[in-house]
Amino acid sequence: MAEKKRLLQILDLIKMLPRNNCKECGLPTCMAFATHVLREGTKPELCPYWQPEDLAFVKQSMKDQGEDSAYPDHLFSARKFVQGKINDYDFASVANRIGVQLEISDEGEHFLLVNLLEQLYRVGKKEVEAVDGAEHDLWDHVLLYNYIAENGGRELTGEWVPMESLPGSLAKRKAFVKGCEDKIATAYTGKPEKLRASLKILKADFPDLDSNAEVAAVFYPLPKIPFQMLFWDADLEDGFPAQIKVLFDSTVLDYLDIESLVFLGEKCAERLLDLI
Ligand code: SF4
Repeated sequence: MAEKKRLLQILDLIKMLPRNNCKECGLPTCMAFATHVLREGTKPELCPYWQPEDLAFVKQSMKDQGEDSAYPDHLFSARKFVQGKINDYDFASVANRIGVQLEISDEGEHFLLVNLLEQLYRVGKKEVEAVDGAEHDLWDHVLLYNYIAENGGRELTGEWVPMESLPGSLAKRKAFVKGCEDKIATAYTGKPEKLRASLKILKADFPDLDSNAEVAAVFYPLPKIPFQMLFWDADLEDGFPAQIKVLFDSTVLDYLDIESLVFLGEKCAERLLDLI
């Protein structure tokens, strides 16, 4: 997946908005409004509560960004496509299958509360919000919607398999190694204890896995998608670099398509690098 650029962020806007979710802009929350301004071309003036200097700053920044969109068109299409797929889903019955909580608003609208790498997202059929205000973007939306769209599958088997044994993984394996395993291994070279501490923040367990890895952890980037992560630190004498290997439950493709799984690996790396 292409590298994304860091432009004006949703949180930048949220900090300037009153955060009272009054809905006057036509969107249910200030977070949704900020997301629409940055991602969907909604006019910032639709909120009447900006400080004039903040509104001027946002408009100028967006103008400066010009056509330099952070997102390719196909990403918008992908989100639309996958939103279309879940449009008829009964969230109440999906929730259990994918291990998430159902929330029903006062208006009777259904949302799924999805824990992605220990950050909670409220996913509706039209909107995604971070419950704790964490930064999120269109890539995250597509990932969360794809997780819901797969609609769960078999119970987890506890049988661990490498990516290369998954059907259709041939073309994706390289991207996973580069975007996830190698990135984490490089960042944590010489720091096995630090890796252990970061994984604890992601609520990892460290079971006895009968492995010679220096760190052997199991954690859940998504509720039904455990990663078994093994880390061997660099051997400077023999010249071996540090290595990470991720294994999946054999049911993983019941819960996420292979492309989204690669992206989930990239998200894991991003999060673990942030935690150093
Ligand atoms: S009108 Fe402004 S304050 Fe009200 S919900 Fe929309 S963005 Fe938030």
